[in-house]
Amino acid sequence: MAEQSWRTGIYLTADVIQQHPNYVLRLRDEIGLDTVVIPFTGELPADVLSLSPYGGRTPTDAELDQLVSRHFDGRPIDPREYEQAKRFCGPAVNADGDDAAFRAIVKQLKDAGLKVWTYGGAYTIRRLTFCPSQQGTQDWFEAVYTHWATQYGLDALDITHTRYSMGSFPLGLFGCTCASCAAAATDLGYDMEKMVADLQSARQGLGELDGARLGDVARLGFGFFDVVQALGLKSGVLDWVRFRTDLITRNLSRFRSIVHEVATDVSFGTDTYPASMSLTAGHDHRRWGEMADFASPLVSHISAFVCNTFIEWARFLQEEIPNLTEEDALQVVYRFNGYDGMGLPETIDAYGAEEAGTLAYRIPTADLVLRDLVKAKLYLPPDMPSYPILHGEGWPRETIDHIVSEARRLGHNGIIWQGTDELMEYDFTA
Ligand SMILES: [Zn+2]
Repeated sequence: MAEQSWRTGIYLTADVIQQHPNYVLRLRDEIGLDTVVIPFTGELPADVLSLSPYGGRTPTDAELDQLVSRHFDGRPIDPREYEQAKRFCGPAVNADGDDAAFRAIVKQLKDAGLKVWTYGGAYTIRRLTFCPSQQGTQDWFEAVYTHWATQYGLDALDITHTRYSMGSFPLGLFGCTCASCAAAATDLGYDMEKMVADLQSARQGLGELDGARLGDVARLGFGFFDVVQALGLKSGVLDWVRFRTDLITRNLSRFRSIVHEVATDVSFGTDTYPASMSLTAGHDHRRWGEMADFASPLVSHISAFVCNTFIEWARFLQEEIPNLTEEDALQVVYRFNGYDGMGLPETIDAYGAEEAGTLAYRIPTADLVLRDLVKAKLYLPPDMPSYPILHGEGWPRETIDHIVSEARRLGHNGIIWQGTDELMEYDFTA
């Protein structure tokens, strides 16, 4: 029985599906593929477009400033992704779609007996986060998801980027504090001013630590109360984490209800940020049942999500704390984030961050990924289907096999692949 309910999915682009129909069929026949997750590459009708916060044209920088998250010092968090944001017709939807081609792709996959999910976007583009409390952005996503759920015969919406910026962008942890988010905070029972004051006070606490002694403590081991004591941590810091997850949970729960209202047979799910650090991105696994029909633990981004976070946070700690060595800073970050004791690199250099493609060969990838898959099962509601997202290429084959067998043992319900070079040979030039 367990075998029958195991899902095997893959992310594929429109080009690959159209140009290599045999690849899809061979995946189905050779690795048991039953689900294809495709990006939305269709077009939106005028009535949906009319709800875009972009107002029907390419926004200026000043207009984007009003739509994106604000750091607590008042500035828009990061304008580096504005060029990409300008290629959209509204948050997270590309403007150059081809509806007939998208429908043909869905039909091709359905005719092959496969389930078809679409992975539409949401709040973030890498560092940039569209403020999640603005009503206009909420109305836009509701209209877009309604269109996707009702017009194409899809089996599920697998919405991605339903979160704040990734942890490797530390500034992103401290937004959004705009007027609309302050009002949302009040609504949800929080006090924005106190949260910001307590965040600033924790940062001051960091600067008052002695780095050499902190290094000693990190190597001996520290726990929750050490963190509270070391930073003089006040309740507003925890409130900040809770406020952001409450806001994301509230928004997504609304999206799911709307999708279920308009399309009873379409599932609504999202990928989850790696469990050890998911609260930093606004993802609370324990509340996944309030907002999604399935979870996809996104454990494939070992570079962008995990290792770059270690590196950036270690650098940040070194800037903030006097006398803290890089090696000690990394140990603090590993322990604080729950990744200690698995033999992660002692220095930033050892990551070879500039060669992200081969990172999986330099770090204990299976241990790293499995730690988050074990935690995901601890936190997710027991009946929530969970399909971890893994790389089927660029990772050692024995690492992949070990993670898959452990994922089964842990009670996950399938795998969504990103690439299959290690799983099946296929000549894309033929
Ligand atoms: Zn905001």
